[in-house]
Amino acid sequence: MARIETPKRIRGTQDIFGEEQRRFAAVLDAFDRVRRLYCFQRVEIPIFEATGVFARSMGETSDVVSKEMYSFEDRGGDSITLRPEFTAGICRAFITEGWQQHAPMKLAAAGPVFRYERPQKGRFRQFHQIDAEIIGAAEPAADVELLVLADQLLHELGIADGVTLQLNTLGDAATRDGWRAALIRHFEQYRGELSEDSIARLDKNPLRILDSKDPRDRPVADSAPGIDEFMTAEAGAFFEAVTRGLDAAGVSWTRNARLVRGLDYYRHTAFEFVTDRLGAQGTVLAGGRYDGLIGSLGGPETPGVGWAAGVERLAMLIAEPAAENPDVIIAVEDDLALADAQRTLKLLRGEGLSADMIATGSPRKRFDKAAKVPAKVLVGLRWQDGRAVANIRSAADSDELGKVRRLLAEIAAA
Ligand code: ATP
Ligand code: MG
Repeated sequence: MARIETPKRIRGTQDIFGEEQRRFAAVLDAFDRVRRLYCFQRVEIPIFEATGVFARSMGETSDVVSKEMYSFEDRGGDSITLRPEFTAGICRAFITEGWQQHAPMKLAAAGPVFRYERPQKGRFRQFHQIDAEIIGAAEPAADVELLVLADQLLHELGIADGVTLQLNTLGDAATRDGWRAALIRHFEQYRGELSEDSIARLDKNPLRILDSKDPRDRPVADSAPGIDEFMTAEAGAFFEAVTRGLDAAGVSWTRNARLVRGLDYYRHTAFEFVTDRLGAQGTVLAGGRYDGLIGSLGGPETPGVGWAAGVERLAMLIAEPAAENPDVIIAVEDDLALADAQRTLKLLRGEGLSADMIATGSPRKRFDKAAKVPAKVLVGLRWQDGRAVANIRSAADSDELGKVRRLLAEIAAA
C-alpha cells in the first residue's frame, strides 16, 4: 500500500499551544484591557484587500510592498493581498464606510498579518499584530495619547523596564525636502560602500537607507546628518508638544534623530519601542503619524497617527503566565455515579466555576488521578446504598469550596 505523505505546516506559520498560547493570550488580554481604559473602540476589518490598498498607501518601493506581500489573483481575476498590516485597511474602511462623521476616531484592532519574509526567531510569515490608531486628529495630543497607551501596555505586561521608546520627527514637507537633499549628498559621497538595495533607494527614497538592516549600510547610515538642522518652526513646535506631553505623562523616551520608518506615509512623529532581549528582532512596537495617507487613497484629507506591535515578540518577553487550572475536579469512582457527576458539573459551571471530571480508566484509580490535578477542590463521587455520595477535599478554605459544599448539599437534599 502506498504510504500517505503526512501534511506539513507551511514555512513561517505557527501552531500555538500550551505555554506559548497562554503567553499569546496574555498579550491580547492586556491589550484589550488597556485599550478600553483609553476608550479605543475595537474594529474588525477584512484579512484581504485589493492589492492597490497596500501598494498605494505603503509605497511601491517599501520592503513590504516590493518583496513581502502575499498577493494572488482570485477566481474573478482581481489582484488580492493578504493584509501585511492594519493601518492601510483601516484607512480604506474609513473612506468606504464614510467614517468622517465619527472623526476623531480612536480604533483598536488585532489579528493575523502576512509577510513573505525569511522565517527566524521573532519573524514569521503569518504573525499577529495588535494595532491602535487615531484618525481625524491633527493635534500632537493624539500622538501623546497613543504613546502613553503603548507605555501603559508595556507596564501591564511587566516588560517596560527592558524596552526603550526611541522617538523622532520626520517633520513636515519642507523639513523633509531639506533633509532629503542633505541625505542624498551624504550617501552619494559613500556610494561605493552601500548595498545594492540602498544604491537603488538613493534616488527614489534616500530616507529608507537610514532604516536598512544590511550591515554594509549601517556605518554610512549612522553617520548621516540628522533632521534637526532642517526643521521648520512648525515642525519643531509639533515635536516639542509631543515630547512635553510625554514628559507630563511620565513616559520616558530617548531621541533617535536618524530613526525613520520603512513606509512612505509617515509625517512628523515616528517611534519604535526597542529591546535588546530579542536579538536582531528588537522592535516590539512601532508607528507614527500618517497625515497624507487617507488623502492619497482618494479619501478626504484626514490626519492620522497609529502604531502596531508584534504579539509574538511581546509574548516572548513576558513572564510565564499561570497555567489554567480547574476550580473543581470530580473523580467518578463508580460508573453508576456518572449521571450525578454530569449534573453536578453542569451546575458548578453554571455558577461560574471551572470544573472537569475523571471518569475513564479503572474506577479504583480515578480518585488518585484526580488528586494529581492542581484543582482547588477535589470531589470523589462513590455509589452507596443506591445513590451517589460525595467526598470533598480541599487544601484550603476558599469561595470555591463554599460553593461546592452548598451545591452538593442542595443536590443531596433534592
Ligand atoms: P522589522 O524591522 O522587525 O522588520 P517592521 O518595521 O517591518 O519590523 P512594522 O511594519 O512596524 O515592522 O510592524 C510592527 C511590528 O510587527 C514590529 O515592531 C514587530 O514587532 C512586528 N513584526 C513585523 N514583522 C514581523 C514578522 N515577520 N514576524 C513577527 N513579528 C513581526
Ligand atoms: Mg519588516
